[in-house]
Order: sequence, then structure tokens, then C-alpha cells
Amino acid sequence: MNISQIRDRKNHAKIVIESLNVKGMMSNHKLAGAVGDANFYEFRRQLEYKSQKFGSEIIYAPMFYPSTKTCSSCGHIQLMPLSTRVFDCLSCRISLDRDQNAAKNLEKLGR
Ligand SMILES: [Zn+2]
Repeated sequence: MNISQIRDRKNHAKIVIESLNVKGMMSNHKLAGAVGDANFYEFRRQLEYKSQKFGSEIIYAPMFYPSTKTCSSCGHIQLMPLSTRVFDCLSCRISLDRDQNAAKNLEKLGR
């Protein structure tokens, strides 16, 4: 799950999270174990509870928002198999960690 946290001028946090297709991920036998262990529902429940308590805003990225496949620098979209851990943009040639790239895209979505 990729998450990006943004603070505005008044220091109120915005947290951007992806709505994952957990049902679909559970049907993939390679992902099912990790997804089951992560307990996304409990994580989300606690995040919502704590955000409300501390006055933070949660922004939900659409379920199929391509945060991983989109270059955070130029916007180019390309295939990113799960085994590919580094985003090497075929357009602008930037190279960065897969999750860092996705987090930057979520941060942009929250602004
Ligand atoms: Zn690029």
C-alpha cells in the first residue's frame, strides 16, 4: 500500500492512500499470503480513526489510479510488473525506487 503524507501551511496533515483491489489481489496466489498478513482493513480503520482524532484529512486515490505505472517526473505511463522494483522511465529516463515514484504521484494527487 502506497501512502503519501502532505502538510499544508497550517500544518494540517493530508494523507493520500490507494484503494486497493484486495479481492482481486487475494485471487492471485502469489499475493494472497502477503495481502492476508497485511490486514489492510484494520490498517485503514485505524488510520481513519487517528486522522479524525488529530484533524488530518485522508484522500483516497481511485482504485485503479496508476500510481506505480506513471512517471512522477514527466507523466509517462508504462507497464510495471510486480518484480520490477525500480521505475526506469522510458520517456525522460529518470530512475527511482518503485514505491518512491508511486508516493510522489500520490502526493501530487493530494495537492
Ligand atoms: Zn518520465
